[in-house]
Amino acid sequence: MSIDLTLAYALQLDQQDELAAYRTRFYHTDSDLVYMDGNSLGRLPAHTAERVAQIVRDEWGEKLIRSWGINWFQAPIQVGEKIARLVGAGIGQVAVSDSTTINLYKLAMSALMLRPGRTKIVTDTLNFPSDLYMLQGCSHVLGGKHRIQMLEPVDGMRVETQAVLDAIDEDTALVTLSHVVFKSGYMYDAKTITNYAHQKGALVLWDLSHSVGSVPVELDDWGADFAAGCTYKYLNGGPGAPAFLYVNNALQAQALSPIWGWFGERAPFSFELEYAPAAGIQRFLCGTPPVLSVLAMEPGVDLMLEIGIERLRKKSLQLTSYLIDLADARLAPLGFSLGTPRETAQRGSHVSLRHPDGYRINRALIEEMNVIPDFREPDNIRLGVTPIYTSFKDIWESVDRIEKVITEKRNLHFSAARQTVT
Ligand SMILES: *Cc1c(COP(=O)(O)O)cnc(C)c1O
Repeated sequence: MSIDLTLAYALQLDQQDELAAYRTRFYHTDSDLVYMDGNSLGRLPAHTAERVAQIVRDEWGEKLIRSWGINWFQAPIQVGEKIARLVGAGIGQVAVSDSTTINLYKLAMSALMLRPGRTKIVTDTLNFPSDLYMLQGCSHVLGGKHRIQMLEPVDGMRVETQAVLDAIDEDTALVTLSHVVFKSGYMYDAKTITNYAHQKGALVLWDLSHSVGSVPVELDDWGADFAAGCTYKYLNGGPGAPAFLYVNNALQAQALSPIWGWFGERAPFSFELEYAPAAGIQRFLCGTPPVLSVLAMEPGVDLMLEIGIERLRKKSLQLTSYLIDLADARLAPLGFSLGTPRETAQRGSHVSLRHPDGYRINRALIEEMNVIPDFREPDNIRLGVTPIYTSFKDIWESVDRIEKVITEKRNLHFSAARQTVT
């Protein structure tokens, strides 16, 4: 079956899209801009701009420190409970705090403390480097006795489930992977891996940075032990918005954070000199949360809850499939190859297109074509598909403008020397 390559068809798909109206719930100033980087920094929900202005004025400006007693102290847990509904977690298991990297560190250290006799950590080379640095830091702090096994992808984009299972043994303390990997968008079979790790007595920590708000996540059903993820990507929480963390109820009585701070203490305002951990998820908080940023992410999360993850996933797969079809037809002949699995069950919500001159093509898209994807070494142009506001026309325009960069040789206008932020 050949695909309809016309712009008219993209516009027809937009007309049939039941989520199309949500696009207008976001702040837009440039109707020509094709924003394909919502998996790095989500757009600004229109309501967030108003909410933040109101919070700053009323809660900080007027009520001042009294706001701590009204809604600020509970905010990390309250917003966490909303995120919990997006990741299949029952109440009392999710909190907002710190950055993703810091949460991963707290959770990985917690897991390693719960498995003192074991020395192996299983992860993969597809993981986000910060996750790997964090693990190296854990091993370093714990005296260097832990060995980090990094599984290699078979085809540059995925590690087979069986290869993960084969790596898990009786010496494995922790298995930690990105559920959806940041370069290729490959999605792991989290439930199978979690179950098997448990059979071997290992604990599992999932990084949900590229999953939350884009694919169904069922932490309780998977039996996950720990999880953490970003809120500034698909949740549209804003630049530097704090991350979230999950600790399974079954572990909460024993699991400890490695960073003992007063916000994780049983009674922070008793100012006791000896630390006693708070009951429940609260013990994984450290110090004063960035209140404005925690509250600023709430409208974005509310929008996701309003739609529901099933509908978001359905549209995401329609968009990524359409993108892959167009890329096969129009870009493959120009030297692009697909850096993302074709199987829908193995795909998150972005599509990587690989090209030997990917870096300069990406520069030309941003500087000359008003398309914003991003670039990940060595040759991946990542097109983030954010089902809540990406349109089928955006997909069509992306492919059309990528083709123009090549046919008009616009990539040659740029140097291949890398800029600081790509
Ligand atoms: C974006 C991302 C991070 C970012 O971590 P920060 O601490 O928020 O900078 C970590 N892990 C993965 C898998 C990511 O995609």
